[in-house]
Amino acid sequence: MRPVIEVRNITKDYRLGKVIVHALRGVSLTVMPGEFVAIMGPSGSGKSTFMNIIGCLDRPTSGEYYLNGELVSAMSDAQLAQIRNRYIGFVFQTFNLLPRMTALRNVELPLLYAGVRDRTERAKRALELVGLGDRLHHRPNELSGGQQQRVAIARAIVTNPLLILADEPTGNLDSRSSEEIMAIFQQLNRQGRTILLVTHEQEIAEHAKRIVRFRDGKVIADELVAHPRDATREMEALPVLD
Ligand code: ADP
Repeated sequence: MRPVIEVRNITKDYRLGKVIVHALRGVSLTVMPGEFVAIMGPSGSGKSTFMNIIGCLDRPTSGEYYLNGELVSAMSDAQLAQIRNRYIGFVFQTFNLLPRMTALRNVELPLLYAGVRDRTERAKRALELVGLGDRLHHRPNELSGGQQQRVAIARAIVTNPLLILADEPTGNLDSRSSEEIMAIFQQLNRQGRTILLVTHEQEIAEHAKRIVRFRDGKVIADELVAHPRDATREMEALPVLD
């Protein structure tokens, strides 16, 4: 099996006037298909920098990054944008939905960019998959925070990405909604999807199957979670998106 992510000794330096900030100081990480990895670490430890590189939003200063076997660390911005659209689904702390569009239209957007047909039908299925089949025509401000994040997850998976990247996806949610969101991630992972999630909450991280800890731009721990917390017990099984 080919790794989804293979990162070899990457560094990232930022120049701030005369000062160089070493945001990543030699990070290596391999993530196989079907893994569910939580990234933890104190503020300033390099998590966002790392996720930006993994999400093809930025390039490392040195080292290699292979995404699905393709060397992306040396690609141009245009190539990175293509790779990003083809391979990665993003979920953000602040949902990032377009406020004037219904849930359905928000989820259709990535399909529009990808030039896919049957957009409405596919977007509808993705929304059903996250339990929002009865909220298709609601706008974001007519939905709760947890529901908005579910729309964002539907938008992230509608193109069937190789990798889901979630940056503090429960950071703006109450504990009950957070649990619902983690249940969805766990079900998606059981359906075979590969997920990388940044969180600063230990309890949230323990829903993943593996926890990687950053400090001072390095990985200081990388451990399997012996008994992940199960958020899905009180939830109905989700349909599978084909
Ligand atoms: P985290 O996400 O863990 O809080 P970051 O990746 O945001 O950590 O930051 C790692 C280090 O890099 C910090 O010292 C931060 O100040 C610095 N940094 C991040 N982005 C930039 C930037 N665009 N320019 C300069 N320094 C940056």
